[in-house]
Amino acid sequence: MRQSQMLLPTLREVPADAEIKSHQLLVRAGFIRQTASGVYSFLPLGKRVLKKVEEIVRQEMDKIGANEMLMPAMQPAELWKETGRWDNFGPELMRFNDRHDREFALGATHEEVITSLVKDEVKSYKKLPLTLYQIQTKYRDEKRPRFGLLRGREFVMKDAYSFHDSFESLDESYKKMYQAYSNIFRRCGLNFRAVIADSGSMGGKDTHEFMVLSEVGEDTIAYSDTSEYAANIEMAPAVDTYEKSEESARELEEVETPDKKTMQEVADYLRHPLEKGLKTLMFKIDGKLVLVVCRGDHEINDIKLKNLYDADVVELATEQETRATIGAGFGSLGPVGVTEDIEVVADNAVKYAVNVSCGANKDGVHLVNVNPDRDFKVKTYADLRFIQEGDVSPDGEGIIKFARGIEVGHVFKLGSFYAEKLGASFLNDQGKAQTMVMGCYGIGVSRTLAAVVEQYHDENGISWPSNLAPYQVHLLALNMKKEEQKSLAESIYDRLLKAGIEVLFDDRKERAGVKFSDSDLIGIPVRITVGKQAGEGIVEVKQRANGEQQELHEDDLLQKINNMI
Ligand code: ATP
Ligand code: MG
Repeated sequence: MRQSQMLLPTLREVPADAEIKSHQLLVRAGFIRQTASGVYSFLPLGKRVLKKVEEIVRQEMDKIGANEMLMPAMQPAELWKETGRWDNFGPELMRFNDRHDREFALGATHEEVITSLVKDEVKSYKKLPLTLYQIQTKYRDEKRPRFGLLRGREFVMKDAYSFHDSFESLDESYKKMYQAYSNIFRRCGLNFRAVIADSGSMGGKDTHEFMVLSEVGEDTIAYSDTSEYAANIEMAPAVDTYEKSEESARELEEVETPDKKTMQEVADYLRHPLEKGLKTLMFKIDGKLVLVVCRGDHEINDIKLKNLYDADVVELATEQETRATIGAGFGSLGPVGVTEDIEVVADNAVKYAVNVSCGANKDGVHLVNVNPDRDFKVKTYADLRFIQEGDVSPDGEGIIKFARGIEVGHVFKLGSFYAEKLGASFLNDQGKAQTMVMGCYGIGVSRTLAAVVEQYHDENGISWPSNLAPYQVHLLALNMKKEEQKSLAESIYDRLLKAGIEVLFDDRKERAGVKFSDSDLIGIPVRITVGKQAGEGIVEVKQRANGEQQELHEDDLLQKINNMI
């Protein structure tokens, strides 16, 4: 492609609204333009990269026998009402009425549409398992659209749905999909981890998120420094490898701790490390008040609490509620001496506590030399805390570290929720009707593109991994007015095209400096510069990623370029 004929508007200035590198660079290098908040146009270069991501996704989907199709963005409200999501999805679902005042939504996801379609078309176990996918534009009225393509209100997603006659069959497809996702993100050149995720309100089924490691990620993941283990921090279990100190139990005492509110203030005042204090919180678990105790240096994870009680709603009690039941405010709560009707549960680490401190359930007073079981009863010890950096990895190998991640993909065992709601059943080999079992699998295609830029850039611009680069070669003619430069560049352009190499030819009448800086900004992996030595047939070849450059004669060029790309 000739750059002189292309819409490729580069900018020197960093756009004021762009906080992160991928957003800044994709705008500056002329890949995208914002049309409305969270709504983008892909300019020609952006569209080329998008297509490359899509092609990798297609190839890996096809390999596992998934069929590509295309569903509508415009979805009738009735379908969403059948699953209850018309009410439950919230304001993220964009809704509108047609001219006959019928209600519609713009597809935020397609479980409803696909399940109702498969319900009508698939009636027999002989057709199962079946996996369908599409690459399509999704609409979500995100509360905070930001970071360019990372969180848009209109974005490109690959969504796949699998249908099964049994959970075993779902397990098999899930494994294949997991492998396909790993292949996709590896081929995109990404440094990523598949992490164990929270299955949320659908309850208890397998789900993994594919996270690209990046400082700008919105999620925190816990991973082992030596093994493959990685999980969303909410999900990672803390292993019970605590040890009890040898010291013998001392006598319980009350100590005045005036105005000492936080765990740290109390620990400093009592001159002991943070972990020698117990932290006590009062939670309301499906309306019931429960005292939850953990070590002072730990944090309670309410998802674990929710799982322990198999509860729907877990929330902190208000200060008034604690005062009404226990007689003290937040800073002075403790498990000692509470009445029988208040349940006390504790994190596993509390079991090992010896001579620790805790609130006395009187404002401004603490107890010291507290020992569990002797001084208070715990109904259940369980893993209730967040994992921390430095903890033993749950798989027993290595130590936990934290990293930030961008979620680019999500694989999820749905079970029969949608199939039941929409009546998707089939006749099994006994001729009996049975509800289908489903899986769903998403990839943020446009988000992936931005995640790649987060990992592939330097101070001069983007540096695309070769699989995703908009072109493989950037050919620069420094001075198109010089006949020998022009004719050599034109002939190299021809030869590259004939060899099937994707080449962007900067044939513009611009200064050399502009061409070089635009080229660095755009980030095509190999650059050929036709300059002063054109008369001798000599050009310069430079690799964007490592800056390596060499002079080559035009006769050796094609072979060298082929080796590079
Ligand atoms: P997030 O937690 O980031 O909002 P999600 O859990 O809502 O993501 P899914 O419903 O699982 O996402 O959608 C599948 C994939 O679509 C996600 O893994 C992500 O890569 C992508 N995605 C989701 N929301 C957006 C968005 N607003 N902009 C761009 N990509 C998105
Ligand atoms: Mg979301």
